[in-house]
Amino acid sequence: MDGNQGVRVAVAGCAGRMGRMIITRVLETAGCRLAAGVDRPGSPALGTDLGVLAGQGPVGVAASADLDAALATADVLIDFTTAGAPARHAAAAAAHGTALVIGTTGLEAADQQAIDAAAARVAVVQAANMSVGVNLLLGVVERVARALDDGYDIEIVEMHHRHKVDAPSGTALALGRAAAAGRGRNLDEVAVRARDGHTGARRSGDIGFAVLRGGDVVGEHSVVFAGTGERITLGHIAGGRQIFAAGAVRAALWTADKPPGRYGMADVLGL
Ligand code: NAD
Repeated sequence: MDGNQGVRVAVAGCAGRMGRMIITRVLETAGCRLAAGVDRPGSPALGTDLGVLAGQGPVGVAASADLDAALATADVLIDFTTAGAPARHAAAAAAHGTALVIGTTGLEAADQQAIDAAAARVAVVQAANMSVGVNLLLGVVERVARALDDGYDIEIVEMHHRHKVDAPSGTALALGRAAAAGRGRNLDEVAVRARDGHTGARRSGDIGFAVLRGGDVVGEHSVVFAGTGERITLGHIAGGRQIFAAGAVRAALWTADKPPGRYGMADVLGL
């Protein structure tokens, strides 16, 4: 860390939808400084000022494809790119002693192996959902599920925009895993992912999922604990993708004084 200017952050995938939001968030956040932005060779964004890319005023640092030069100026690299890229980014970051925040999803085995290897040399935070609220909800759901017995039926409801192709959402499944973990169960053994026709009565201990699709909904999740005479509902509503950028920058600042190792958002949030 540069004592005068805070944590120096480089953004991989700086021209992407998340990359641009992360640039904005870094510029808005006290205690960190935008050091570099990298994107793939051939990207039309190369050479463009990072501030301009993010719809802000110029900041005097341009998007580049030179990963080594970017890492030489940075304390931490935030990666929101595409599968395959994190493998190269993790190996290079480890060689430079630069911490890593990985938000890219759908990773290949080679990406995970490189990230594991990097974690032996630098701090690595990886999470498929970097929203502070969703990660808090995961912790709360596990605790509530632990406190309540099978007399409280657990149902998870999610809604996303009309373009989403997978169901239930990865976050809904993560909430299901948290609830199952609270009950000391494996989600695969208790999940009911769809109901149709004559299903019979609900089996005690099951965790049910219901999926809604439509419009431009960014992401809504509810976990219902339905008992006899009372019902507890815990939920999260995502208003925009900036919540993921906020979580990623929070994780980047958190890595500044952390020893090498693999961490998740629960560590960042102190859960
Ligand atoms: P996007 O396609 O808009 O942006 C990806 C960017 O990465 C592009 O600019 C692309 O040119 C760049 N890129 C690709 N290969 C590269 C390489 N080898 N080196 C450098 N740059 C490279 O995608 P997006 O919507 O910004 O999402 C990016 C990733 O983040 C996806 O995997 C998405 O699922 C994930 N995501 C994670 C979270 C989370 O909370 N963890 C939230 C939102 C999105």
